[in-house]
Amino acid sequence: MINALGYAVQSASSALEPFAFSRRPPGPKDVHIEILYCGICHTDLHQCRNDWGRSTYPMVPGHEIVGRVKSVGAEVTKLKVGDFAGIGCMVDSCRRCAACQADLEQYCENGTVWTYNSKIPGTNENTFGGYSDQIVVEERFVVNVASTLDLKAAAPLLCAGITTYSPLRHWKIGKGQKVGVIGLGGLGHMGIKFAKAMQAHVVMITTSPDKAKDAMRLGADEVLISRDSAAMARHAKSFHFLLNTIPNGHDLNPYAGLLKLDGTMVLVGALTALTPPLLGGSIIHGRRSIAGSAIGGMAETQEMFDFCAKHNIVSDVEVIAIQHVNQAFERLLKNDVRYRFVIDMATLRPKT
Ligand code: NAP
Ligand code: ZN
Ligand code: ZN
Repeated sequence: MINALGYAVQSASSALEPFAFSRRPPGPKDVHIEILYCGICHTDLHQCRNDWGRSTYPMVPGHEIVGRVKSVGAEVTKLKVGDFAGIGCMVDSCRRCAACQADLEQYCENGTVWTYNSKIPGTNENTFGGYSDQIVVEERFVVNVASTLDLKAAAPLLCAGITTYSPLRHWKIGKGQKVGVIGLGGLGHMGIKFAKAMQAHVVMITTSPDKAKDAMRLGADEVLISRDSAAMARHAKSFHFLLNTIPNGHDLNPYAGLLKLDGTMVLVGALTALTPPLLGGSIIHGRRSIAGSAIGGMAETQEMFDFCAKHNIVSDVEVIAIQHVNQAFERLLKNDVRYRFVIDMATLRPKT
């Protein structure tokens, strides 16, 4: 076994603390990666605090992982020692079901194996994530990261990036469409960049007027303050597509009212109950759709990395030492991040 070091929570109310654990010895299809950077996704906070009621402890969070390949198994073909590699939210799936066969491993009918807080198939042990120094993952669930990308800023592409890229692609966003991105956080700021690169007219829909300037810098054509009911009324029935990244339960009705005929709002954030209830009339009028979307498959994640290399897209990050991870969680909860925290894993074992 490989001796690994990371940061873990031991319960829903405890802080992240240093944690020693083991990784499996690499098999013939495995890639052994030294983790260089790991982004902090709002999901890490939800999972550590058991917001979704399915957390198991100890938990090493982290699924926006970029690192350097330390070794590869004999059957690995697309990565070699020294390459830069990325691992996102998944580390395994059944490979046989219709979803897996369609390169949609995130919807595996037999259960996707998540990078952390999942059971390792055939065992009673948990997967452990990227707030750690190394990881062993089968090649299918590893992407190539171009050495030309700024690695620390590329880490959030593994979740914030693909979660916004995938629905924009699936709903064929492009020129001539008015797209609203709701919530300017880790996901939202990537949503603006991708929608802009896909040539849509992009409106940032935010509760925070002080983020307006940043939204324009990131590529938005307009900013709509969602708490300004007169401004919301001016944009009523005008959007082809809305990407809703709000992390908690909220009132969907005012946002649904922004959609034009046949418009779609995709939810990626709130997994919990949405309150107050969605009124039927909010979607019946205008034949509107409300949909959901989870990350993206491995092939699409690689496609997104190639798109990012071509369009020079990375995340806006604030790099932190792992010793400050608990303060970063507090700031994330208070909506105080511009726009993604990324842990520099070199700080895990400081040189003396
Ligand atoms: P984040 O960085 O905290 O950003 C969320 C943004 O939503 C905030 O910056 C804020 O933007 C807005 N917001 C927060 N609370 C709000 C409220 N009560 N009402 C209205 N707006 C609110 O979070 P993130 O990392 O982008 O993650 C967003 C959500 O997506 C989380 O729930 C996460 O678990 C989920 N997620 C889902 C997937 C998936 O596959 N579906 C993947 C990754 C993450 P403004 O200040 O601009 O209003
Ligand atoms: Zn995430
Ligand atoms: Zn499957």
